Amino acid sequence: MKARNFRYIRPTILDQAYRILAENDGGAVPIAGGQSLLATLNMRLSAPKLLVDIGDLNELAGQSYADDGTVRLGALTLHRELLASELVRKHVPLLVRAASHIGHVAIRNRGTLGGSLAYADPAAELPACAVVLGATLELGSLKGKRAVKAEEFFKGLFETDLQPGELIVGVRFPAMQAGTMIGFAELARRHGDFALVGVAAVATMQHDRTIGQARLAYFGCVNRAKLAPSVSAAVEGLALPLPDATAFEAAIRTDITTEDTPGLRADTKLHLATVLTRRVLNSLSA
Ligand SMILES: Cc1cc2nc3c(=O)[nH]c(=O)nc-3n(C[C@H](O)[C@H](O)[C@H](O)COP(=O)(O)OP(=O)(O)OC[C@H]3O[C@@H](n4cnc5c(N)ncnc54)[C@H](O)[C@@H]3O)c2cc1C
Repeated sequence: MKARNFRYIRPTILDQAYRILAENDGGAVPIAGGQSLLATLNMRLSAPKLLVDIGDLNELAGQSYADDGTVRLGALTLHRELLASELVRKHVPLLVRAASHIGHVAIRNRGTLGGSLAYADPAAELPACAVVLGATLELGSLKGKRAVKAEEFFKGLFETDLQPGELIVGVRFPAMQAGTMIGFAELARRHGDFALVGVAAVATMQHDRTIGQARLAYFGCVNRAKLAPSVSAAVEGLALPLPDATAFEAAIRTDITTEDTPGLRADTKLHLATVLTRRVLNSLSA
């Protein structure tokens, strides 16, 4: 299928973009890398009258380290740039691990951090990472700027806290502290496919291999990116390596409600989430 007719504009000034989005009152949508939006247009799942290409907005670009110990990534940061950035590798290495699982090279060359968070696909890697890392999203519109914690940003299936006319401008990630470990794994039918089940984890370690505080989030088997509080609590104090999943198996069933989908039963998803959780915890590393 082909997209319905639309107009296209590529503003170079952020306020201009805000004004165009506000004046068109829902009839205009921003486009970044187009890796999700173009598919929905071509399938006629959405039919905006105007596409506002945000690719030339300097305020949405760039990577920096701030004095408050956060790394700010512009919304236009490409998935490919997450993999290549020394700053990200040093301070937010979970994003590097996650980005290598996003689609294929062509998608990583065009897809953006802001686009992935705004689209809020429950099978996407970056929303889950933003949640476990405690990231803060910088949102902007004609009305001004506001900051929203990632945990509060994802509201439901493909649903976020973004208001009409609002853009994700950048995302702030706390830099990883010494003694913190990370883990990431996903299961997909083929490499590059969206995850059937995935886990992102951040944990402080006590002594050598005992988990202190932990934060885990699932993707692929949930309807939105959110923390898994019961699992996070259940794994605290566990000594690694874990011989089995006894300590957190019940907590997974508390945090995740799965449904049958074509080719994958709800119970199988829970089983995969359990297997993957143990795998991620046993492979926690700096
Ligand atoms: C074959 C294929 C495989 C893929 N596999 C994966 C995968 O395994 N994992 C994964 O996570 N993703 C995957 N993707 C999606 C890809 O990562 C997209 O790039 C990403 O989801 C959206 O980023 P984008 O910049 O392309 O956004 P776009 O497609 O341009 O936009 C997506 C949505 O976000 C909105 N938007 C974009 N930027 C902003 C902003 N700054 N502020 C507010 N709203 C904004 C748009 O209006 C639109 O609604 C895949 C895509 C394809 C085509």
